[in-house]
Amino acid sequence: MGERDLYRGCLLGGAIGDALGYPIEFMSRDMIQKKYGKDGITDLVVSKGGKALISDDTQMALFTAEGIVCSEMLRRQGKVSEPSDEVFSAYGRWLFTQGEKRLKPEMKGWLLDHVDLHNKRAPGNTCLQSLLSGIKGTWQSPHNWSKGCGGVMRTAPAGLFYEKGEAFLKGVEFAAITHGHPSGYLPGGALAFMIASIISGSGIREAAEEAIDVIELWDGSLETAAKLRLSIDLADSKSNDADAIAKIGEGWVGEEALAISTYCAIRYGSDFRKALAASVNHDGDSDSTGAITGNLLGARYGVEVIPDDWIDTLELKDVLIRTADDLYDRYIGTPDWKIRYGTGKGSVYL
Ligand SMILES: [Mg+2]
Repeated sequence: MGERDLYRGCLLGGAIGDALGYPIEFMSRDMIQKKYGKDGITDLVVSKGGKALISDDTQMALFTAEGIVCSEMLRRQGKVSEPSDEVFSAYGRWLFTQGEKRLKPEMKGWLLDHVDLHNKRAPGNTCLQSLLSGIKGTWQSPHNWSKGCGGVMRTAPAGLFYEKGEAFLKGVEFAAITHGHPSGYLPGGALAFMIASIISGSGIREAAEEAIDVIELWDGSLETAAKLRLSIDLADSKSNDADAIAKIGEGWVGEEALAISTYCAIRYGSDFRKALAASVNHDGDSDSTGAITGNLLGARYGVEVIPDDWIDTLELKDVLIRTADDLYDRYIGTPDWKIRYGTGKGSVYL
């Protein structure tokens, strides 16, 4: 298995976890069991169009990746480019896909051209409101005090593009664009760091332990570090999934979403179906915990552990694969980068 498969695994795995959890995002564990049986939801729900639908988590992760590559394109053209500015601009385009036409985002990149991305899939209020302000939030100058998991659910692409030290900072910056509480942005840094570490050969547990050391250097890190440590301890315990996850929380906030996902990924390793089932069948934010678990497992074990039938039915599968390849090709680029990511060309909305 080549490194490219880990990149594809990370984005496809995340999207599949998101799609698995999306139909049950707002259901309690009891409600899920009543509807899907004792084991809860264990298979993708296929929509009328024949696809398993992704939600805002995957949409925003794709736009994170687009912003990163747009920034790299500018750098290659000899222009000064701050990656978080380009990611902020990309999130403006995501806002546009949600039907919000009041702001005029920079119309570039290639994602806008995919009509399947122009769908509202329960977007988070904090993301919508903070982007609507037109101001880029930063961790040094936050414009809210939100620690919702909307910050962390979209930062995995930073871990695929940057080396782990830089990935942490970039993950923090990208999450802080909309989420100003340390437990909103530090998990974003931690996830990007963990993905970068896993891609370079670490196990998931090792990456989580390393991430705790990095998190603890930051102000406001107590909650995130404590939840991540708890997730490792619980993965080693005899506790069943329902009890373990309930001890961590429901995943609506950043530190809990990262910790629930880390717990599921460590406990079930390469058993992708079991890990994802555990990550979504609980009282909380199923699509985000599914997405992050899928990111971690895909980055560690690659596309081959993901069931083929799940990949086949996944909405936007080809866009996800191409985006993963663009991040993988970060040192060389591909001939069509200029058309898809360069300024001045690339969108029907120009
Ligand atoms: Mg969602």
